[in-house]
Amino acid sequence: MQVVAAMELNPLLRSPRPLPSLNSGTEAADKKRVNAAFAAVAFAPGLALGSFLNVVAARVPLRRSIVRPPSACMACEREIKWYDNVPLLSYAVLRGRCRHCQARIPLVYPAVELVTALLLAGCVLAFGLSVEAAVAAFFCAALVAVSAIDLEHRIIPNRIVLPATVVVLVANTARDLSPEWALAALVGSGFLLAAALVYPAGMGMGDVKLALLMGAALGRTVSVALMVGMLAAMIPGIVLLARHGSKARKMGIPFGPFLAIGSVVALFWGHDILHAYLATLRN
Ligand SMILES: [Zn+2]
Repeated sequence: MQVVAAMELNPLLRSPRPLPSLNSGTEAADKKRVNAAFAAVAFAPGLALGSFLNVVAARVPLRRSIVRPPSACMACEREIKWYDNVPLLSYAVLRGRCRHCQARIPLVYPAVELVTALLLAGCVLAFGLSVEAAVAAFFCAALVAVSAIDLEHRIIPNRIVLPATVVVLVANTARDLSPEWALAALVGSGFLLAAALVYPAGMGMGDVKLALLMGAALGRTVSVALMVGMLAAMIPGIVLLARHGSKARKMGIPFGPFLAIGSVVALFWGHDILHAYLATLRN
């Protein structure tokens, strides 16, 4: 109980969600079950959204329309019929190859569909059917598209990140009137800007702009996202260094996907991690 009292007194440690009262156990359990049911239902539209994000990731860097023309094979340019464009299933049925020319369909396509569906279900599970869940799902969709593009093209397109930042910032500020969202966007991108100036080979301005979106979406837990992202990015860095020695420095690793991983961790567990961290500082 002392811990709870300390958390309530300290605004930094205050949970944004009200602590459940002791006699609402069954109600909370019911709510969890309802959210789990909605999350399961959200999986199918999540797959469809993932399929759309594949189109976004393939076309936005080429500055082509994401509406027209219909999807075609990248190799033989034949139009992909609807029955060959069913998320996950078509990839499995076609064994990852074009029906006409047998060209390999990159594994990133079904991966994007699956990850998007899992993230969308996760947002509904964690935040229920709420505006918060909608903003979180939109944020996740932007992260998936940006990661897929950064992996393939080594760029983080302004045409996704900047409009998404505006949408998320307005939605979060309207939902929870506070300067936190705008402040976190500025502090998060300021931190990466400083890092980019100190160590220019490490990251680009695209990462700095992505941090704007992360701050607007995550608020104070953007700190968790940046820390987790930087730690995660060290793993392939160390592997490359071990394998290739000093040559590893020239092998650029895209930083965007790691910032996205950190963002997802922060979105779902950021407040818990921040509480745990601040509690250890106090002891
Ligand atoms: Zn083909």
